[in-house]
Amino acid sequence: MGDYKNTIIITGASRGIGKACAEIFAEEGWQVVIGYHKSEVEAKRLEASLLEKGFSVQAIQADVTKQEEVKQMFSKARATFGKVDALVNNAGISQFRLFTDMTEQEWDQMFDIHCKGAFFCTQCALEDMISSKSGSIVNVSSMWGQVGASCEVHYSASKAALIGLTKALAKELGPSNIRVNCIAPGVIETDMMKSVSGEIKQVLCEETPLMRMGSAQEIAKAILFLSSEKASFITGQVLGVNGGFVIG
Ligand code: NAD
Repeated sequence: MGDYKNTIIITGASRGIGKACAEIFAEEGWQVVIGYHKSEVEAKRLEASLLEKGFSVQAIQADVTKQEEVKQMFSKARATFGKVDALVNNAGISQFRLFTDMTEQEWDQMFDIHCKGAFFCTQCALEDMISSKSGSIVNVSSMWGQVGASCEVHYSASKAALIGLTKALAKELGPSNIRVNCIAPGVIETDMMKSVSGEIKQVLCEETPLMRMGSAQEIAKAILFLSSEKASFITGQVLGVNGGFVIG
């Protein structure tokens, strides 16, 4: 029993916040599945560097919007590590568009990745969690899902939906001792912010009480906390990790 290692699946883990999660969970002794979509080279490189350090990790490909691929990712994870104890629904995209210019395809893609992806992955994870009466799910939303962002209506709406999913699911799964929580990051320096101009980044930093962008590691630490025993009585919550940008 003392040797038991928890297994976690992290989607979108080849870079950014997901990669920081893979690293920190591996360092904390978890068995980690590095879920990736298209970035095979980066995912395999991360897998190799963590294996070299003696950690238990495996990179597994899946587009979270494809149910069959998600099912296969979970089967492969179970074949390597046994049951799945925790899940981080981190995969995401961003896009700046005037609402009036937005296409149906752009709207659907946002909801498919953020909401349907979380739906597919969570259903698979629950196969183990319900029978073992334990588990943790952390959904990565955004502060824009809490307060809305101009020119990101589809992003904000889909991230708000993820908060609703978190709260409802926490109520449904609480009796099975499965916790479901949400992280709402503020402005975090990852590839997702690459398309944002230096000028806008500066304005965002000035609007952040801590006067800077956050790091992927700072989000990963909060996700680790919510996934761990330290958060054993926390469920259905939205934890803002945003330098004070959104308070209350
Ligand atoms: P990122 O672009 O570096 O990482 C996103 C990851 O999601 C990538 O690895 C990408 O391949 C993966 N992904 C996208 N579509 C996928 C799909 N269909 N199937 C599987 N994987 C897919 O950005 P990040 O900043 O690390 O973002 C991680 C999460 O944090 C996202 O959900 C994002 O919305 C959220 N977030 C980021 C910020 C920020 O400022 N960076 C702020 C709030 C919330």
